[in-house]
Amino acid sequence: MTDPRTSETAPRCGTVGDDVLRVHELIGTDNPRPKCGAGHGEPVDEWLRAVNCPDCR
Ligand SMILES: [Zn+2]
Repeated sequence: MTDPRTSETAPRCGTVGDDVLRVHELIGTDNPRPKCGAGHGEPVDEWLRAVNCPDCR
């Protein structure tokens, strides 16, 4: 059963490093990174939350 929220067309989002308040849009599949390039080298935690990073919109 496929969850429409996790389909290929749905934007993936998550936080980077210790900043868990700013949710970025993630790009890439094998190693998703914030669209805005924030947190270079920091670990990404993927969430099912609304993107709130102004640089990713
Ligand atoms: Zn961002």
